[in-house]
Amino acid sequence: MAEKKTPLQQLSEKILLKKKHAKALLNQKDIDSLAKKYVQFISEQKTEREVINKVKKQAIAHKFTNLLEAKKLVVGGTYYYAVNEKNIALIRYQDMKKIHAIASHADSPCLHLKPYPLAETQKLAVLKTHYYGGIKKYQWLNIPLSLRGVAYTQKGRVDFSIGDNPTDPVFTIPDLLPHLGRDQLQKEARKLVEGEQLNAIIGSDEVDDDAVSEKVKLSIAKHLYETYGLTEEDFISAELSFVPAGNAREVGFDRSMILGYGHDDRSSVFTSMQALLDAKKISQTQIVLVYDKEEIGSYGKTGAQNMFFTHLIEELIQRSQSDTTPSAVWRNTKVLSADVTSAIDPNFADVHDPTNANYLGRGVALEKYGGGGGKYSTSDADAEFMHALITLFNTQKVPWQTGENGKIDVGGGGTIAMFLAKWGADVVDIGIPVLAMHAPYELAHKADVYSAYLAYKAFFEHALK
Ligand code: MN
Ligand code: MN
Repeated sequence: MAEKKTPLQQLSEKILLKKKHAKALLNQKDIDSLAKKYVQFISEQKTEREVINKVKKQAIAHKFTNLLEAKKLVVGGTYYYAVNEKNIALIRYQDMKKIHAIASHADSPCLHLKPYPLAETQKLAVLKTHYYGGIKKYQWLNIPLSLRGVAYTQKGRVDFSIGDNPTDPVFTIPDLLPHLGRDQLQKEARKLVEGEQLNAIIGSDEVDDDAVSEKVKLSIAKHLYETYGLTEEDFISAELSFVPAGNAREVGFDRSMILGYGHDDRSSVFTSMQALLDAKKISQTQIVLVYDKEEIGSYGKTGAQNMFFTHLIEELIQRSQSDTTPSAVWRNTKVLSADVTSAIDPNFADVHDPTNANYLGRGVALEKYGGGGGKYSTSDADAEFMHALITLFNTQKVPWQTGENGKIDVGGGGTIAMFLAKWGADVVDIGIPVLAMHAPYELAHKADVYSAYLAYKAFFEHALK
């Protein structure tokens, strides 16, 4: 027979927060079926263009139509609005009185090619890179790399994806052997390998002609020209990157986690898109926004500091034929800035305050603010918006947690929330916690991915005051 709880035990249960495992509220079958689709999504899509194009393709398969071709919006109608394979919005239109939007980014850290990438050095052909985003450079050595992206030749567009098909070759940047690494190992870690050393080896055979000076380089250039019509000049306009090769994998005896490239931030793209496609009740206009360039500060035509969202609102006002104003729309818009955050790591626990940290497997992380020490570079959501979301998640049984992105004075990081907040909408940060963020392979928990999906679906299906 269960012993009767003491009054203080009962009080404790009532007023103190117990952080439970996300699975206490979830069904394993649901977690697994979404995780399967998610693993496929991040294994196949490895550049921002590929992600945006996939989102667009999924939307069209679900009968979304081009917003710019809609003369008058239909209640319950579904539309997409895309810019340059770099930004996309999916819209389920209700009215212009209230909008719930979820914004994420499709770009992930990787190694872009330099304008003149092709070189022969020490009798090997290499492609020289310029890393994109905040990486620990040494992590990108000694792993199989896949070459992805788009180039324009005299004959037209060529889409590259070499290294992920099991029969494909891969590319790699070898590290120095330990036997000769004595001096290297004395260096501080950020200088173990420098930007100019991130040259990937792509070939070693040479052409058979002593009249040519760089025979290995020419051999590869010849291959690129004969196979793709690509000349050295075509690299200048191309957008080609090395990304980690191979599929995302399950981790652990219990298969509870996922090791994969680009959880940051394709987990948010995938779960917000899936939530919009699956949302049943429509209480207000629902929008999914996907940005580019977050990893380098959200600048440029397709970063979140641009006018993509404001232009979208203009288009919606005009095509809804309502007499509302942009400022009225912004006042009644609520935005989830969906991005990953850091989870506390058993091997590096000292960079977090364990009381205010996010834990793998404890649900989607809702964070009032991001940034670093002194709360710089963040938007800091209002108590009212936070409380409304927490109430929603609790009533809808969404596993959620909260934490800070590391100890106050240790570091920190920003996302796009502050850029989205400037027009007057309520904005808050939310996303899954990950380990090894920005590494070629990041670690995430399947139950957190599912919790994010549930949170986004609840946000789409319910009106908040
Ligand atoms: Mn991110
Ligand atoms: Mn990032």
